[in-house]
Amino acid sequence: MTATPDEHQALRQAIRGICAGYPGAYWRDLDRERRYPEAFVAAMTRDGWLASLIPEAFGGRGMRLTEASVILEEIHRSGGNAAACHAQMYTMGALLRHGSDEQKTAWLPRIASGELRLQAFSVTEAEAGSDTTAIATTATRDGDAYVIAGEKSWTSRVEQSDLALVLARTSPRDDSNRTHGLSLFLVDLRDARAQGTIAVAPVETMLNYPTYRVSYRGLRVPTSGLIGEEGQGFRYILDGWNAERILLAAEAIGDGWWFLDKATAYANARVVFGRPIGQNQGVAFPLARGYAALAAADLMRFRAAALFDAGEPCGPEANMAKLLAADASWELANRCLDVYGGSGFVVDHDVERKFRETRLFQVAPVSTNLILAYLSHTVLGLPRSY
Ligand SMILES: Cc1cc2nc3c(=O)[nH]c(=O)nc-3n(C[C@H](O)[C@H](O)[C@H](O)COP(=O)(O)OP(=O)(O)OC[C@H]3O[C@@H](n4cnc5c(N)ncnc54)[C@H](O)[C@@H]3O)c2cc1C
Repeated sequence: MTATPDEHQALRQAIRGICAGYPGAYWRDLDRERRYPEAFVAAMTRDGWLASLIPEAFGGRGMRLTEASVILEEIHRSGGNAAACHAQMYTMGALLRHGSDEQKTAWLPRIASGELRLQAFSVTEAEAGSDTTAIATTATRDGDAYVIAGEKSWTSRVEQSDLALVLARTSPRDDSNRTHGLSLFLVDLRDARAQGTIAVAPVETMLNYPTYRVSYRGLRVPTSGLIGEEGQGFRYILDGWNAERILLAAEAIGDGWWFLDKATAYANARVVFGRPIGQNQGVAFPLARGYAALAAADLMRFRAAALFDAGEPCGPEANMAKLLAADASWELANRCLDVYGGSGFVVDHDVERKFRETRLFQVAPVSTNLILAYLSHTVLGLPRSY
């Protein structure tokens, strides 16, 4: 089942081939033991899929965001979870579009070869939350370096990365232009660890997710680590955010197909009162409705990705894709659990694990409310609520 005729069959088959080596039992064990999927990430790296967005000139596969989204969708559709490694794809946008030639030459080939990982994006702070422009982490110029100091309440995969993108204030917040004065840095975490200017503490969550609190304690970053112009970092992360929303929409869509495949197979096979439960419209119609919602979300994902790849503005479409996909996958997660009845709660079926995992899309990396606020303000022209 796919929503539309699909020109990505060869790519899908290649990713399915890798994922077949990492079945439900693999992810279940990791979930139980709260471990990072090293073997899976190594396999994806070895075959170059995590470098799919890096141009061929720098050793990558030179693919478009559209194809990158298909890769992540297939990981989720197989029952896995791409959260372990997806950030290498969405952090790439900022480096590719706004990084200097020197930065690209210095880092991209080593990321493409798998020697280095860039999969941490350090933005959120406890006191700022969804109001990113209220972050308090500072980067102060000191000779040929910036000195970063502050606390990030969430930074995923920082322990599994060599490089991170960090957002910090280089000048105080100006209420007449809140987005100005934020700067984006490419930080070499190996240096930070050697300097002893970074402290990391794991955050335990309801799902197996490698996420951490991070303190930057006078971390010196050479000026060559500044991405683009000082003070313009918010503009650069907007590009990254659109890419992130599209890629995560694809993950949610992959989850949606997984729930739908699982639920329809079970509804056909499980016989109660002498007939398959799927023969009851109370079971079948919610799945049919979920299918329609998922197919619509899928179209919006491809529309948003096409605009992104064409270099066109895609904020509304990227946000709508994320909203529709997160809603469709969550709806199907609930329907799948209903179809499975008590069995849905049994760990061995993976339904409860995927249920927990797909719930995250309602909250992170951007909450559904904040998407609705964006659409209200930016598209509908309604008064701003913040
Ligand atoms: C597993 C996980 C991994 C994460 N990884 C990273 C990471 O790698 N890097 C990173 O920078 N961050 C990361 N985050 C943080 C994530 O981006 C934030 O949790 C998310 O943006 C929401 O911010 P918040 O949690 O501070 O919620 P808050 O901003 O405190 O919001 C709480 C609730 O209030 C609602 N709300 C707030 N303001 C409004 C408003 N004006 N109108 C309507 N509703 C509103 C929100 O929608 C939300 O439901 C991660 C989070 C999780 C859970």
